[in-house]
This record gives sequence, structure tokens and C-alpha cells, in this order.
Amino acid sequence: MKKLTIYLLITALIFASCKESKKPKNVILLIGDGMGVTQIYAAMSVTDKPLSLERFKIIGFHKTYSANNYITDSGAGGTALSTGHKTNNGHIATDSLGNTIKTILEYAEDYQLSTGLVSTSAITHATPASFIAHDTSRYNYENIARDFLDVDIDLFIGGGKKHFMKREDKLNLIDSLKKKHYRIIDGIENFNSESEGRFAVFTAYEHDPEYRKGRGNMLPLSTQKAIQSLSKNKKGFFLMVEGSQIDWGGHDNDIEYVTTELIDFDNAIAEAIAFAKKDGETLVIVTADHETGGLTLTDGNVQNKKIEAKFSTDDHSAVMVPVFAYGPGAESFTGIYQNTDIFFKIMDALGFEQ
Ligand code: MG
Ligand code: ZN
Repeated sequence: MKKLTIYLLITALIFASCKESKKPKNVILLIGDGMGVTQIYAAMSVTDKPLSLERFKIIGFHKTYSANNYITDSGAGGTALSTGHKTNNGHIATDSLGNTIKTILEYAEDYQLSTGLVSTSAITHATPASFIAHDTSRYNYENIARDFLDVDIDLFIGGGKKHFMKREDKLNLIDSLKKKHYRIIDGIENFNSESEGRFAVFTAYEHDPEYRKGRGNMLPLSTQKAIQSLSKNKKGFFLMVEGSQIDWGGHDNDIEYVTTELIDFDNAIAEAIAFAKKDGETLVIVTADHETGGLTLTDGNVQNKKIEAKFSTDDHSAVMVPVFAYGPGAESFTGIYQNTDIFFKIMDALGFEQ
């Protein structure tokens, strides 16, 4: 009996220590552009079923201010998350002086992980660009598209085909991508994620339409297919998924635009969680770059799912934004910290060194 007890104790200890030291193999970072706490609660209040976000147990907040402004834009906000550096508004993975900074996606490439980007805006737009391009202006779309050729990203899905094919410099980057063995696919429904290879999936010439104007399940489906495609790599993968247009609803002070985009983004989160649950080696992080609209709820009704929303600005606000984490390495995401800490927490979780 004593022997059995000791045996069980040792087994329990070994099991506990294994669990303790478990590192994620894969990281899925989902960014709701402009998604503050109020945007989330507004969506929770109007939707019929609980949001996937409500299932997270590990929650934190980050401070969003940029190097030169109390209120960040998506360039500096994305750069903080992707590189661990606060930079000036408008910059894309460059510091305040314009020096290139290596991104988490580029580190993942170095460590031979598969890498991917998914967005409901042009893939050259500030948020996805911050993970792969380097520029002192987020609006240099042609240069940003050019930078996609310098990184061996495995898969990107989003709009912005225009910046690869109809350029002032007359370069045809679609041909350049083909030369680098990318398969060019138009429309997420035409992407067979079971096939091997590198893929550039264009879902729009410029930006994808609003969810309520016919985007369909492009974002959750892209997330699911991206995970299926990238998870073939036994070494792991890094995937960034952006719900781009929550921000645009905020800029438009249009609460229905905000909530419909947020619920669609939440469906993409559900795909990430479903995979992470099954896989057990995937760290899922959901956060925002900043809040947009200075949104507040001044009245509402839980029973008939009505809300009264007021915006205090048509721009971004300075408030902290939430972070939700799930999977191995998630514990480090509790508390209040800087936006830049998210980069370092991901680096630590994956065991990457700078
Ligand atoms: Mg964005
Ligand atoms: Zn914005």
C-alpha cells in the first residue's frame, strides 16, 4: 500500500512538472482592430449566443500609447505587438528614427515555423503590414507589398491585390510571387488548404466588404483554412488574424457596423480555440491595437437585446484594451502591462531569443 502511494505520488509529480514546463508549438494572435471593452460588451448584449470571448479564463489589459502620441494609430499599435517597440504613429515595424525592427513573424521564419497572415482589409493595411513590412509610412502600400517578397511567409489571406498588380512602378508582384512558388488564389472558397505549398489568397481587389454587406464567413473560414494549412509543419506555426473593420465601424460611429464585425471576429476566435483545444500545443491570444470611437453604452435592455450607444470621437481613444489568452503559456498574459510586452511574452512562450 505504501509502495503504491509513493508510486502514485511520483507519477503525479512527474505529470505536474510536465504540465508546468509545457511550451506552445503554435501561436495564433487575433487582433480586433479598435476593439475595446465596450465594443465587446455591445456585441455580447445584442447577440443570441454567448461570445467565444466569454470562455477565456486568462484576461489582462495593455497600455496602447505610442512613442509620440498618447493615442496610437494602427501602425504604431501593430508595431508594438509585432516587434516589442513603441514607435511613432504611422510607422510600420520601424523605430522612431526609421530603423527596421525584426517582427515576431520574421523570428518565427528564422526558427522554421510556418507563418501566416489573415485580414479583412487589404493585406498591405497597417495591422498585417506591421508583421511583415518595414516602412516609416503605413500609406506606402506599394513598398509594403514589395516587402512581402523579402519574407518567406507561407500563407497570406486578405484584400489588396491591387497593390501587387496595378502599381505606379509597373512592377508585377503577382509574377514575382509566382517565381517564389506561391500559388495565387482568388477567393477563400477556392483555396484548398489540404494541398501543400505557399499561398497568396486574395479576397478583394482592395478591402473586403463589410460583414453586413455580404462578406459572408470569409474571416472564420480563412482562419480555419489557414490553421489547417500551417499546422502541417511539425515545428509549429505563427498566425496573425485581424478583424480589421471593428475599427472602421468605430470611425463611422456606427454601432451596428461595430457589433456585426465583432461577432464575425468572434467566430474566427472560435475556430482558433477549437483547434487549440484539440491540439493542446497552441497558444491563442486575442487583443486589440487600441479602442476606436470612445464608445460607451448609455442604456439598454438585456431581454430584448437593445443597446443605446454613444461615441465620443470619430478617432481612436487612449484607453487600455483587453487581452485574452488560452493554452500553454497563457498564464503570463494576466495583469496590466505595455502593448510591447505582448511581443516579449510570445517570444518567451515560444522559446525564441533576440
Ligand atoms: Mg487594422
Ligand atoms: Zn482606426
